[in-house]
Amino acid sequence: MTDALIAKFRAIHARAPEIIARAPGRIEFIGNHTDYNGGSVLGAAIDRSAWVGLARRSDGRRRFASDTHSDVVEPQAGAFDRLTGSHSWVNYPLGILVAMRDSGLKIPAGFDYLAVSNVPLGAGLSSSAAIELSSCMAFLEAAGETISREALVALGKRAENEFVGVPCGILDQGVSGFGRKDHLVYIDCRGPRFKTVPLPAGPSFWVFNTHSKHALVDGLYAARHSECMEAARVIGVPLLVDASPAMLAAAEGRLSRPAYKRARHVIDEIARVEQAVEALGAGDLAAVGKLLFASHRSSRTWFENTSPELDFLVDSLESEKGVYGARLTGGGFGGAAMALASDAFGEKGAGRIADAYLEKFGARPDVLHARAEDGASLVT
Ligand code: ADP
Ligand code: MG
Repeated sequence: MTDALIAKFRAIHARAPEIIARAPGRIEFIGNHTDYNGGSVLGAAIDRSAWVGLARRSDGRRRFASDTHSDVVEPQAGAFDRLTGSHSWVNYPLGILVAMRDSGLKIPAGFDYLAVSNVPLGAGLSSSAAIELSSCMAFLEAAGETISREALVALGKRAENEFVGVPCGILDQGVSGFGRKDHLVYIDCRGPRFKTVPLPAGPSFWVFNTHSKHALVDGLYAARHSECMEAARVIGVPLLVDASPAMLAAAEGRLSRPAYKRARHVIDEIARVEQAVEALGAGDLAAVGKLLFASHRSSRTWFENTSPELDFLVDSLESEKGVYGARLTGGGFGGAAMALASDAFGEKGAGRIADAYLEKFGARPDVLHARAEDGASLVT
């Protein structure tokens, strides 16, 4: 991919990039809607990445190009206004520059920029975090700045939350930043604190993107968020991470039914993340897989953020040989499901799942096979 980036950079900018940085997409492994409740989550950086090439300019011009758009975007020198329409993708790198500047870091004044990526866009694999962190690594290098991984991740999240305007949690940037080959990334979202957990050798990930999304998904997210906060308030804790199953049971009579159901999911899900870390430590993939299925069932029963498409995928995956576990991945209400599977599943198994899905829903899901890869890094 680096060679393709350099060739494309030459074609667009008529010279070679001085700096190349890479950052991966990610999978939410387990820990569904736990982040804003102060809980923990496990994710994996995947072997799909965005690469950013950069060459400094002394004339202050900033020329942004990407593999997804044919035109070069050049915001006015020194301007940091949000862009709209077909130029809005530039808000990701521009937002990084603004976040760097507002954090007191030096930023490069002028440059030629190119992003290329093989993380599918809008497929729940966070192509946005990949663009943010690869851009950030390149800009930091160009400005001669060195910062911690925690700070890098925070800059990416800040750019997305404040400049792009997407209220994502810490998972996307945290995993893209802290990813490690053959490891999962564990995030204690309240810190946030990050660590890596070895993944036993053998299994890999399969992601099935349904391309279906509930039309009212933003409103549903907001409703779930406020039900969780309501539950914490009634139970008498700052966030649901501070509540035990016993505290929830004691408060059941005082909670609205939706608040009880959401809290039930979140409190159990946080416990499942911790159990998954333990099971991974013991190399017990069967136990890890059971937790994945339990997570999905909890989403279906208590958080009510699955869909007929996701339920069908997970149910079908449950009867496949070689599949340890499967669940929805990401926010839910449509989107993608993922499975942890041995080679006994493989392309054949994935094909069977896609065929059955096609028969039932009249369209094929996108299928992506991935392994856990290293997080954001400077290539040259
Ligand atoms: P996801 O992060 O789940 O893939 P998002 O909607 O958060 O979906 O981010 C997708 C957006 O990120 C795209 O619409 C685009 O603006 C930006 N993006 C991702 N990859 C690229 C790329 N290769 N070139 C330009 N913009 C990109
Ligand atoms: Mg995103």
